Amino acid sequence: MSAAIDVRGLRKSYGEKLVLDGIDLNVAEGTIFSLLGPNGAGKTTAVQILSTLVAADAGEIRVAGHDLHQSPEAVRAAIGVTGQFSAVDGLMTGRENLILMADLHHLGKQEARRRADELLEQFDLAEAGKKLASTYSGGMKRRLDLAMTLVGSPQIIFLDEPTTGLDPRSRHRMWTLIRELVAGGVTVLLTTQYLEEADQLADRIAVLDHGRLVAQGTAEELKRLAPGGHIRLRFTSPEEFTLAGQVLPTAVPNPEALVLQVPNDGSVHALRDLLARIDDASLEVDELTVHTPDLDDVFFAVTGQPKSEEVTAR
Ligand code: ADP
Repeated sequence: MSAAIDVRGLRKSYGEKLVLDGIDLNVAEGTIFSLLGPNGAGKTTAVQILSTLVAADAGEIRVAGHDLHQSPEAVRAAIGVTGQFSAVDGLMTGRENLILMADLHHLGKQEARRRADELLEQFDLAEAGKKLASTYSGGMKRRLDLAMTLVGSPQIIFLDEPTTGLDPRSRHRMWTLIRELVAGGVTVLLTTQYLEEADQLADRIAVLDHGRLVAQGTAEELKRLAPGGHIRLRFTSPEEFTLAGQVLPTAVPNPEALVLQVPNDGSVHALRDLLARIDDASLEVDELTVHTPDLDDVFFAVTGQPKSEEVTAR
């Protein structure tokens, strides 16, 4: 597979502050790549550089096969960018916003209208398209914003935190739209501070922390970096709990909750083995839950920071 985006040794400082500290990225065509990191990690700066809005201090960067430094115009023609701050003009209707964007792309009057209507339909905005964009909900504005990015039929789309601040329903809708775009052949580079979002959407994830990539891989590969897989067994009687502790000596006991945490990789084999031992000892287990490491655990494992509060604070 050829690379839609290829970055080697990208560096950027603002004054004394080193924002990107030698980053390497490779995004395959037709995939979703997620740059995951907390506020201030350098995600937006990376997108601004890759989309030619801000100059890098150093690094070799190719986007859509073009050298970013030598052919910024060619790069611009191949990409679309949707930032955290919407390009939507509230004083126009959704349809007018799209037609204006089509005019900027020199689509011609008829084609502009056709494309605007097609996108309104695709983004579930056909009715809303007649109304002023200022009356739209947050989710509708984001969808219109993304539709505007697509007017020029870009090969590569940069989505900078596309669902920050959206309610769960709007977020899921946005995810579906993003998946549909990729199914249609577009490459997406997505920045997010939501671990779940990267897990849901991305073929590959790079974890960015203080301007450095601290881990890279598929969601599954990254999860393997995190220890902490276990099976949680809850008992109703203290006697059963004590007996189980003797049968399963590697378990970590919590006597107050009558819970045992048994280290386990979550594989079918390991689970079957545990169930056999429970059966053999005729243990009465009240509740059994399998905990596989999630991306939260990964973030903790690779950065050493408990991440959740910081991630959601914005
Ligand atoms: P993220 O998108 O991951 O939240 P940013 O790329 O916005 O991170 O910011 C990374 C760091 O760079 C932050 O410390 C921010 O204050 C700094 N920064 C970003 N843009 C500028 C700028 N134009 N001038 C000075 N500092 C900046």
